[in-house]
Amino acid sequence: MNIHEYQAKALLARYGVPVPKGFVAYTKDEAVDAARKLPGPVFVVKSQIHAGGRGAGRFKSDPNGKGGVRVVKSVEDVGAQAGAMLGQILVTKQTGPAGKEVKRVYIEEGVDIKRELYLSLLMDRATSEVTIIASTEGGMSIEEVARQHPEKIIKVAIDPVAGYQQYHGRKIAFALGLDGKQVGAAVKFIGNLYKAFTGLDCSLVEINPLLITGTGDVIALDAKVNLDDNALYRHKELEELRDESEEDPAELEAGKHGLNYIKLDGTIGCMVNGAGLAMATMDIIKLYGGSPANFLDVGGGATKERITTAFKIILSDANVEGILINIFGGIMRCDVIAEGVVAAAREVSLHVPLVVRLEGTNVDLGKKIMKDSGLPIISADNLAEAAQKVVTAVKEAK
Ligand code: ADP
Ligand code: MG
Repeated sequence: MNIHEYQAKALLARYGVPVPKGFVAYTKDEAVDAARKLPGPVFVVKSQIHAGGRGAGRFKSDPNGKGGVRVVKSVEDVGAQAGAMLGQILVTKQTGPAGKEVKRVYIEEGVDIKRELYLSLLMDRATSEVTIIASTEGGMSIEEVARQHPEKIIKVAIDPVAGYQQYHGRKIAFALGLDGKQVGAAVKFIGNLYKAFTGLDCSLVEINPLLITGTGDVIALDAKVNLDDNALYRHKELEELRDESEEDPAELEAGKHGLNYIKLDGTIGCMVNGAGLAMATMDIIKLYGGSPANFLDVGGGATKERITTAFKIILSDANVEGILINIFGGIMRCDVIAEGVVAAAREVSLHVPLVVRLEGTNVDLGKKIMKDSGLPIISADNLAEAAQKVVTAVKEAK
């Protein structure tokens, strides 16, 4: 789960990570009130959307104007800038060309910037360790740094049993060229960030930029926190941070029905049980010249209702020109799946070619149910055949 910058900062502050003072605002008036509570004279008005690159982003309504993060020098101007951003569409490198509407702004105290660095903690799946990534190139996207200056990326892995040790922090601090009081501040900062990462069950915490102030303090000037969905049940209080308006509506709907759905940009909708089989299905569609419109794992216990919901979600994507269902009936019986597919195809009045490949328990009965339904379901006996058939059917339907 993704959360907004201001929410991330509030969570990190609970773990002792220093962040600038600020208040969220939904209207121009709230923005002015927020600024009055801050010391001034410099304020920063920051668009809150689930995407980075806001500073360098531009508003659709004003493509040559200022970005989504603005430094201002009066309370009145906070109101003016907040008013100019709220309700507008901000396009950044991470939002894609469609952009995202700014519905909230964060009003923050302006901080004296000496150096901008990069720091993140993430779960490295290759080593199964939480890993600190740091770089002197703050403010830039880490992907860009990795491409242009891979030598400027510092990585330190933390043994999960021993946890964070001060030497990890010192290693990072020295590699970033910190000195004097900054070293101790950084060691403490990273330690608290690690506590937040593990305490909140994060999959990523990214501080970009990590700020060194003129007085040698270390502050998180930006914060991106991704919470591990699989651990959310342990943090019921974090559920309320979810901003559904920032999420893809189809993915949200799928999640509510226990379906794992991720929209992609191809034309062939896939419905598969099991993540591994779903990946293999997507690969084989590609192999035969098609491109998958989504990843969709209906799970092991897919019922008729689930299959219908999955169908509707796939068809809600206007790019879908054909559907491939690839289901292995191990625990589930193929006849039950076939009944679900037939019922779903009738209910949604299917308008694109549908290829079904079933295998497993009661497969013959399953195939018979589909055949007897009178629906134009194309049956396939193996995965390669299914992929070829759907790619061909989509071409012919054009
Ligand atoms: P994004 O990464 O989405 O562009 P950031 O929060 O990193 O947004 O802000 C972009 C830039 O704006 C920062 O690199 C920093 O230079 C400046 N900035 C952000 N917040 C503040 C602040 N509170 N005080 C001073 N400058 C800030
Ligand atoms: Mg940033």
